[in-house]
Amino acid sequence: MCTSGGGTNERLSAEGELPDHHRPRGGSRWLTTKLTITLAIAVAAAILPASFSPQSASAYELCGWVGQSWVCGARWNSHSASWHDNTGWTGSKQTAVSSAGAKWNAVPDTFSLTYDSSPYGPYQATVGLANLDVLGIPYPGATWTYTAPGDRYNINGAQSLLNSTWTWNTTGYFNVSTKSADVLTVILHEMGHWMFLNHPCATQPGAVMCSQPVAKWNLTNDDIQGMQALYY
Ligand SMILES: [Zn+2]
Repeated sequence: MCTSGGGTNERLSAEGELPDHHRPRGGSRWLTTKLTITLAIAVAAAILPASFSPQSASAYELCGWVGQSWVCGARWNSHSASWHDNTGWTGSKQTAVSSAGAKWNAVPDTFSLTYDSSPYGPYQATVGLANLDVLGIPYPGATWTYTAPGDRYNINGAQSLLNSTWTWNTTGYFNVSTKSADVLTVILHEMGHWMFLNHPCATQPGAVMCSQPVAKWNLTNDDIQGMQALYY
């Protein structure tokens, strides 16, 4: 349903509110879809670095589906990523996208999220606009993360797309039925998936990383602790 570099693993996080669906393991009304293009089977425990301690961020799943396997421990080994805004937005919407990157970069950890203003790239992560409806994704945003061939625990790229069929604002307004969404809330959430943070709705419904159609403009302690668990 979407393309990536040859041989790379790809996983998708998309979210939106649907009235009759629930996440399989949580209480959120947001439907979570995780798709993986490339199947690759391995045992997580055999590959995780010894220093990895997911229990230190218990509010986070820190895991996701890769093919038929539930994988825990994927992350960037580089602890840094360059990113670029491809939305073409100006004014307050552009400011909101920029602000989202700055907020994640300000988390005291060892991960740097650096904006690359060059129009040419290459960038390791991007934010763009696309019609997600035609991809079968009826949500305001979706994120793909990419891993190196043969090393699906080593994220080396990410892409977030905001749905161009939605009406975007910077006032915090959400209306799922009329497909209206707030830029900062959605992209702040999607960027969290770049670093492989997941949805802590079962225990932390107020976190940015729990998708809800309400304005969430600031990272919570739980969002920050998730980053620190992965990148300290
Ligand atoms: Zn999400």
